[in-house]
Amino acid sequence: MECRAVTRFVFQLGGAFTMVLKHQSPINVTLGSIRVDPALPPLRVHYGRADLELTYRRRDADKSNGCATRHPEETEEAEVPLGAAHVTLGGVRYDLRQFHFHTPAEHRFLGRVDPMEMHLVHENAVGERLAIGVPLRVGQRSTVDDVLARLAPECGPAVTVPDVDLATLLPVRHTTLRYQGSLTTDPYTEGVRWFLMAGKTVTAATVARFRCLFASGNSRPVQPLDGRTVVEVPQV
Ligand SMILES: [Zn+2]
Repeated sequence: MECRAVTRFVFQLGGAFTMVLKHQSPINVTLGSIRVDPALPPLRVHYGRADLELTYRRRDADKSNGCATRHPEETEEAEVPLGAAHVTLGGVRYDLRQFHFHTPAEHRFLGRVDPMEMHLVHENAVGERLAIGVPLRVGQRSTVDDVLARLAPECGPAVTVPDVDLATLLPVRHTTLRYQGSLTTDPYTEGVRWFLMAGKTVTAATVARFRCLFASGNSRPVQPLDGRTVVEVPQV
């Protein structure tokens, strides 16, 4: 049975009109959806070093017991000082504003689910978003372990993480799977350029610590591709 239409998110905006959101994230990347195009502009990464503030991003501040409960769209978010890191794509600059984490991973690759995923959210001068998604798998220690060494409590102070080499958050190779999607949390705004990279490793202890905080997970289910193409751009 074809049920795809009913899984779309439909929002009533002021009752005046209905906007159907159909380019939603995350997705399951299938072989059939991928097209390779080495001719597309490369993603140029210019990440420096910075002191970060790891904060708990709340979604239930209006609830009396909110400090003790985990909303599925809450997360740990590292705020990046403006100017410390940016990417360029076709001459347009997108500044890294924050990066945050989901467990389990939101994007799937041929159905595979990784234990965690990191989203690095960038914005250009007119507020358009470009997000880099990096699946996190258990293995060798990495810079991500340093960022998540101490988690910020939901109703407590932020954690300062000093002198982070932001470039080492990403895999060495910057090959990307690109597609047009959305925020994966309310309000699910579309027009987000997604760049999915190969994975990074983190220790089992870091995954366990994060899962302990978000015992029920903080990931959105995969959304229909709905005819979208995922373009692979090989890069060294
Ligand atoms: Zn995210």
